[in-house]
Amino acid sequence: MNNSIFTESNQRFKVSIPDQILNKVKELCESSFPNETGGILIGNYSEELKCANVSEIIVAPSDSKSGPTWFLRGTSGVKKKLDRLWFDKKYYIGEWHYHPDCSSNLSSQDIKQMINISNNENYKCPEPILLIVGGKTNLWEYSTYVFPKGKAFVHLDTIK
Ligand SMILES: [Zn+2]
Repeated sequence: MNNSIFTESNQRFKVSIPDQILNKVKELCESSFPNETGGILIGNYSEELKCANVSEIIVAPSDSKSGPTWFLRGTSGVKKKLDRLWFDKKYYIGEWHYHPDCSSNLSSQDIKQMINISNNENYKCPEPILLIVGGKTNLWEYSTYVFPKGKAFVHLDTIK
């Protein structure tokens, strides 16, 4: 199985996403076009805690709302799913969403949302990851960020 690796130059943070999962995300983006969609990244951390391995995603909960330039991820059923995954040692590690036919750069609203999550005890995730998919079919682009609690966010480059 091939993975895409996102990291920064000093490799302090690393995120590994199987191509299979990126393909699934692309399919979800395609079927949601021209509106945004999104969901949750599930996975675990390597022993040295510096590599987050995404192992699955949660698709947009049924109470999510979106338009061409905005997405509000719902919460319906999420807690139940996360509680179940916890027993398999699979945890909430962040969020993903789609910017249809736009750059995958994060918006000021995305920053606010992720800082809230890093500070929210319910998520038990002090370093949440944000994966943004931009573009459209055959012109996809990705940006990945980490939001360490209380610190500036970090943009990770693809090194595949
Ligand atoms: Zn966004």
